[in-house]
Amino acid sequence: MFVSGGATILHADLDAFYASVEQRDDPALRGRPVIVGTGVVLAASYEAKACGVRTAMSGGQARRLCPRAVVVPPRMSAYTAASKAVFAVFRATTPLVEGLSIDEAFLDADGLRRPAVDVAVRLRREIAEEVGLPITVGVARTKFLAKVASGVAKPDGLLVVPPDGELEFLRPLPVRRLWGVGPATAAKLAGFGVRTVGDVADMPESTLASMLGPGAGRHLYALAHNRDPRPVRTGVRRRSIGAQRALGRRRRTAAELDVLLVGLVDRLGGRLRKARRVCRTVTLRLRFGDFARVTRSHTLAQATAETPMVLAAARGLLAAATPMIEDRGLTLIGLSLGNLHDDRAVQLVLPFDQARAVDEAVDGVRDRFGSSAITRGVLLGRDQGIAAPLPPD
Ligand SMILES: [Mg+2]
Repeated sequence: MFVSGGATILHADLDAFYASVEQRDDPALRGRPVIVGTGVVLAASYEAKACGVRTAMSGGQARRLCPRAVVVPPRMSAYTAASKAVFAVFRATTPLVEGLSIDEAFLDADGLRRPAVDVAVRLRREIAEEVGLPITVGVARTKFLAKVASGVAKPDGLLVVPPDGELEFLRPLPVRRLWGVGPATAAKLAGFGVRTVGDVADMPESTLASMLGPGAGRHLYALAHNRDPRPVRTGVRRRSIGAQRALGRRRRTAAELDVLLVGLVDRLGGRLRKARRVCRTVTLRLRFGDFARVTRSHTLAQATAETPMVLAAARGLLAAATPMIEDRGLTLIGLSLGNLHDDRAVQLVLPFDQARAVDEAVDGVRDRFGSSAITRGVLLGRDQGIAAPLPPD
């Protein structure tokens, strides 16, 4: 047995991923605040974060906070290549790798000849040398705690939480560090004077359940005591799902296109929820009458599988392409949902969201009676308010 005594799970997370790739590839950007994304902020370097710039913030707000920041357009192909290189190092380290997103994975060092701490030190060094990017690693006995540890250790850090120091480490942390606690839940808990993980751990589970509901109460109570039995799962997980419709030559009205779009969102959202996953990126693919193609993506402020949020993003993308569509005619419309994550991280958004309740009801009926059993209002010509405004860019 090694000193890490059962703490074998690594959570490895690249720091300010897109921005770090930009700083790696352009020495002039090193040490300077860098914002990736000319509209919404897709990533901010730590120098920009120091001014208060955050991912998903509007470009205008980001520039006001950090006027000297260099704003660069995203280069997705460079990020994809870097991600592949990083995952190759992960897989050369251990066969037990569970990718969470383009820049983040769980690894299990169980069964390796070296202690997890050494594995983590070497992993960070290899990624720095072979890929040229900083990565933070948290090591602990559970997935939950490994992720908390990497969050605390960022940027460019390594933090090992030994099993006999788990509660001591967790107790002083703010409740926001608990997986699934968003601003709404944190505010609700603060209303009861519950601010730290220790506050949560000291309460009876029944009290938490009465504050947040039985599911959320049980979940939070378990996490506050570092109870998380989930193993690191390998297996290929899909990175995106998509669907498309060929349109032929007939010109479609904006209303007809909207109906098609709602149908695509509806179908993909159902598949996503069935897989208990959420997406961060909505991508619209269009082919025109002259065979030209365009792809437009929108990154959501938070991962979701909810129809209104996905649909609002898709509608925004389609609206932006309207002049091209009117010009050239549209022969194919496709939509894909990418940057997929497990649903757990967002299960606790409170209060229980009405949109999600509707989605779940729709999915339930479809599971029992088939996919044609239920059709969203707009498909029948009655848009029952499932549209939501696109978040400001
Ligand atoms: Mg990251």
